[in-house]
Amino acid sequence: MNFENNLAFAQSLDQADPLSSFRHDFLFPQQNGKPFIYLCGNSLGLQPKAVRKVVDEQLNNWHNLAVEGWFEGDNPWMFYHKELKKLMAPLVGASAKEVCPMNTLTVNLHLLMVSFYKPVKGRFKIIMEAGAFPSDQYAVESQVRFHGYDPKEAIIEVAPRVGEYTLRTEDILTQINEHGDEVALVLFGGVNYFTGQWFDMEAITKAGHAKGAIVGFDLAHAAGNVPLKLHDWDIDFACWCSYKYQNSGPGGISGIFVHEKHFTDTTLNRFAGWWGYQEAQRFKMEKGFLPEASADGWQVSCTQVMPMTLYFASLQIFEKAGFIEPLRVKSKTLTSYLFYIIDQVNMVLGFEQFEIITPLSENDRGAQVSIIAKQNGKEIFEKLTANNVLGDWREPNVIRLSPVPLYNSFEDVFRTGELLLQIAKGII
Ligand SMILES: *Cc1c(COP(=O)(O)O)cnc(C)c1O
Repeated sequence: MNFENNLAFAQSLDQADPLSSFRHDFLFPQQNGKPFIYLCGNSLGLQPKAVRKVVDEQLNNWHNLAVEGWFEGDNPWMFYHKELKKLMAPLVGASAKEVCPMNTLTVNLHLLMVSFYKPVKGRFKIIMEAGAFPSDQYAVESQVRFHGYDPKEAIIEVAPRVGEYTLRTEDILTQINEHGDEVALVLFGGVNYFTGQWFDMEAITKAGHAKGAIVGFDLAHAAGNVPLKLHDWDIDFACWCSYKYQNSGPGGISGIFVHEKHFTDTTLNRFAGWWGYQEAQRFKMEKGFLPEASADGWQVSCTQVMPMTLYFASLQIFEKAGFIEPLRVKSKTLTSYLFYIIDQVNMVLGFEQFEIITPLSENDRGAQVSIIAKQNGKEIFEKLTANNVLGDWREPNVIRLSPVPLYNSFEDVFRTGELLLQIAKGII
């Protein structure tokens, strides 16, 4: 598409956008009586207006039914998670049996590693991306130590080449091939939180499996952002948080994926709890853990109805939008327009004040554009915020901007560029 750097052009794209009305389903934060241009959905998605009603319904159920609410009412709590599973599955390319809402992300990463990181002498290593989200680094290090290995020896990090910011798929595959027989687990992010790079998940999975390793993904920045085919790509396990691109609220419930091929594997370790027990027999309260043969078998504690209501309200918006494919079409154009606008800002300034480190190819990125501000980065970021554009800042010098297809517009992107130019010129 031939983009133009003017308001009328941006507005014409919005008029032609079949998803433009979805922004009215969300509540925007305000400053000085004006709504923010919100470009921070990669960190915390906006509140869907529908949330209040859904939460209220469950508060009423709690009030009116109390303990009977587990089996009575329109959506008995006992089976409420199944309504979510139906809507989570198409978002990540899985069957409903393969996904389950539970806990929070890092907790689930630990629970899944208990099952899927099975180090033995000679095959105990984990391959992951260098600079993974810190929580993932801490989780992996502590798992390695828990099994009696030294993280320095056991964790292999794939890093960008000197002078580059993102990983080359060939370098990831080479590391997997080279360490091959020693690798117990390949654990990657789907989309990197810092650069916004979307990794070639299918190629990574194939390479890991060819060497006999288990392959899992942390999809915190990928789920609800890019189209996923977890089942068809034959990924062993995955987990994600729902409060970023899936708008389920701060600390919202996490989702897990376990490929169906693992459901009946009795050799897998689990940290078990009563809610993972076979649903039909759970209340016999018998000795000896028998897991439900689905992702539900990884549940530990009783189902978290209140955080699930938030996630449910948001998933219904995705359903109304046609799940991920229509969003992805808009998302690609939105980020491409942001690339173009940043380029225009540099051109007018006459030097590269803003360097984008997110992959240029739209197939290698999601909805996030990470920008290095060459000079006065922190100051520029603070002025953006003061002037009602909310992105986020990552040390040492990166501004992350995420135009989210459900609630951002092309006008948002244009206005952000206009503001960046004024700030960089010192007008603001
Ligand atoms: C956001 C994020 C987390 C956060 O995990 P919580 O357990 O929900 O706090 C973990 N890992 C990655 C990759 C993330 O992007």
